[in-house]
Amino acid sequence: MAKTDLVTMAHGAGGTVMQSLIEKYMLKHLGGAKVDVPLDALDDAAVVQGIVLKSDSYTVKPLFFPGGDIGRLAISGTVNDICMIGGDPLALAEGFILEEGFDLSELEKILESMRKASDEAGVPVITGDTKVMERGALDKFVINSSGVGKRNLLLDKNLLEVKRHRTLDAQWLLDSNVRTGDKIILSGTIGDHGIAVLSAREGYGFETRIESDAAPLKGTVNRMLEIGGIVAMKDPTRGGLANLLNEWSQKSHVGILVEEQSIPVKEGVRAACEMLGLDVLEIGNEGKLVAAVVPEKAQAVLAALKDTLQGRDAAIIGEATSEFDLVATETVVGGRRIIAPPAGDPVPRIC
Ligand code: MG
Repeated sequence: MAKTDLVTMAHGAGGTVMQSLIEKYMLKHLGGAKVDVPLDALDDAAVVQGIVLKSDSYTVKPLFFPGGDIGRLAISGTVNDICMIGGDPLALAEGFILEEGFDLSELEKILESMRKASDEAGVPVITGDTKVMERGALDKFVINSSGVGKRNLLLDKNLLEVKRHRTLDAQWLLDSNVRTGDKIILSGTIGDHGIAVLSAREGYGFETRIESDAAPLKGTVNRMLEIGGIVAMKDPTRGGLANLLNEWSQKSHVGILVEEQSIPVKEGVRAACEMLGLDVLEIGNEGKLVAAVVPEKAQAVLAALKDTLQGRDAAIIGEATSEFDLVATETVVGGRRIIAPPAGDPVPRIC
């Protein structure tokens, strides 16, 4: 059998290899439903009869890392994906799959962390499922986290503000909504989560302790929507900022020009990436978001974002352009470099 017929780690890594798996297999068999935002749109969540729906599985290794654990990730990731499309998350369903022999005191620690994150987000867990697989059939613990939401009450006001400046037909914050001139705002430093998990897994003794940014962003998103003018929103999880910007570019048919030195990166993360030969733009984050905003509202949205705990390091990092149709960065010396969509995640199993 040819190698291409087998699943590889890259198939779950959030890059172009996963994209083609989804298109060739998942969409082929499961796509095509006529709903408000369908599976085929491959946005952060789907919408059916006005209800936002999202499902996400968590396989992070190790289960505990600086700044978080699998439980905090499971709550934050699903809440955030519902928020990104313009939904207001209402409740979560958690499916637990445990390996025989798993320490119940560890389970309890993870559940305490989930409870804390769920309280922080204001989104309760209201149903779930528990299964156990025999020793060796599973790596310790996997969580599937699903959620439902309704339309965020602030979304219409936000879209009205967009329409004061230009046309927009979409009813939700879709990847395909970005247009020439839109400013790209990043809510804070990138790379923290991936590097924190990697260093916990491999035991690297980096000089500075790097913590995961895993956090629910519901409050942050609401502050931004209150200002208005946001056309698209997405969290740079697997595949990082590089993958996010390429998805927007491809689905919106625009180029995106990013100013490299405007992207906030913590010194310790930058040093770790240099040491390991990793591109920080491809590293996954779990408590960050990127917004595309009409230029007239960009400064006001940025100011509101900087006023929040999760957005204090926010910056405008670039804008959509019709000059070309890919993602490029302006380097410190004034040159331009193409940011290609990553094939896979340089750091596997970080979420
Ligand atoms: Mg997402």
